[in-house]
Amino acid sequence: MSVNQFKSLGLSDPVLSACKTLGYTTPTPIQIQAIPSVLAGEDVMAEAQTGSGKTAAFALPAMDAFGPTKGSKPSVLVVTPTRELALQIAEVCQTVAKHTHHRVVSAVGGISINPQKDQIKRGVDVLIATPGRLLDLVSQKAVSLAGVSLLVLDEADRMLDMGFWPDVRAIISHVPASRQTLLFSATLEDATFDVGEVFARQPKKISVSPQTRTTDQVEQFKLLLPQDVKPPFLQAFLSEHKQERIIVFARTKNRVDTVFRRLSRSGIAVDRLHADRSQNQRQRALSQFAAGKVQVLVATDVLSRGIDVQDVDWVVNYDLPRQPQDYVHRIGRAGRACATGCSLTLVTPDQRQEFQALERYLGAQIKDLELSFFDMDEATKKAQARAVRAQDRRDPELQAAKREFSARAKRKQRSAEQVKNEQHVHAHKRSSSRKPKHLTNAQHTSKPKAQSSRLKKKSETTHTKSRQKQTNASHGAKKGQAKYRRSVK
Ligand code: AMP
Repeated sequence: MSVNQFKSLGLSDPVLSACKTLGYTTPTPIQIQAIPSVLAGEDVMAEAQTGSGKTAAFALPAMDAFGPTKGSKPSVLVVTPTRELALQIAEVCQTVAKHTHHRVVSAVGGISINPQKDQIKRGVDVLIATPGRLLDLVSQKAVSLAGVSLLVLDEADRMLDMGFWPDVRAIISHVPASRQTLLFSATLEDATFDVGEVFARQPKKISVSPQTRTTDQVEQFKLLLPQDVKPPFLQAFLSEHKQERIIVFARTKNRVDTVFRRLSRSGIAVDRLHADRSQNQRQRALSQFAAGKVQVLVATDVLSRGIDVQDVDWVVNYDLPRQPQDYVHRIGRAGRACATGCSLTLVTPDQRQEFQALERYLGAQIKDLELSFFDMDEATKKAQARAVRAQDRRDPELQAAKREFSARAKRKQRSAEQVKNEQHVHAHKRSSSRKPKHLTNAQHTSKPKAQSSRLKKKSETTHTKSRQKQTNASHGAKKGQAKYRRSVK
């Protein structure tokens, strides 16, 4: 049997028409392996690389095997870690549903729950949800999972990493044990979940590319550079690749914000994605990027699996990912499905060992990027000078010396001004004494005034002397009275 075409995989005509609408002509390796097994009712545990076409690998056969019902209980339930992934899966399912007439509902956090409740009440066949929101809906009795015949756990390794596994367990407990289960994971090797608690029977294992962990369609580069040189390098890199669509991954929300601000200040059409952005902001950023209105998208790892945009030319790892699996997911954003792309990882000298460990994990050596558009030596020198200036600004001793120096300079300036003022006053006085005709009325009368004050002084002295005489006389009288009193006794 030839498996080159979707028809030979056993899909029905409506689903084959959906493939046409989706623009798929040849199935990808994961689709070739998974579709017949799902149609045969088997449980499947699949290790599928990111961008391998795994969404269609479960969505096409699931919607083929479980036709639409009239109820409000979903028969197909897809649980996925991020909102973006849920919305992307929902989009594929909705396209298929145009041909199969399923009712597809997505339930994700970050937006109002009420419209989701209303939609479910109106009827649902395929429900695609993030774990937290699904459990909210279950606990509010807005949805029953009792009718689920097929459960898909998408990006299971990611759900484990993100700490969603207790929620996943709780969801499994609400789903009938007789269900069919499909589990998809980028890596199965490091997965720490208990197979027995996910599958009621032995699953069929599928692995599309066991030897190499990253997609072959991505040409990978690295660049060794100091941390301080990253900003000017990124600017130069982006202006060198002006016409290309680029995703830049940074480690934290703050780093994303800083890179975003720096790039938008320099006039680059850029947007950002991280967990603190609202659902609307995230959707707008993705659609603007997909439409080519935004050239650069800066994102954290939380979003590294949620971005499905066609024709991403470059993925730039501005910061190394925290774990090797994230590297695989990040660079999987470039070269998705049948397109080719490149990735560049910036490595600082102190991260050499960490990067070597990543290469060992990948089983590949990543080549150096050849620099023709950027003078690394010059940029390093400038960055060092900037660092010294910044260090000076933070050094308390240097700051105290600076303050002292400027206080001394101010004192010097003040005394120089004082000397100048005094010289000016002396010069003015000298010129005034040489020109008597310019004397004022007050100055003309000053001499008689001095005379009158001398006269006044003289009269005051005379007056004081006569008062002294009077006082002495009265003292003499008092003395005589005392003598008299003593003699009477
Ligand atoms: P996924 O791995 O499901 O995230 O899919 C990655 C990308 O591959 C999506 O953009 C799909 O539209 C695309 N894709 C999936 N299957 C095929 C196919 N058979 N032919 C071409 N593109 C595909």
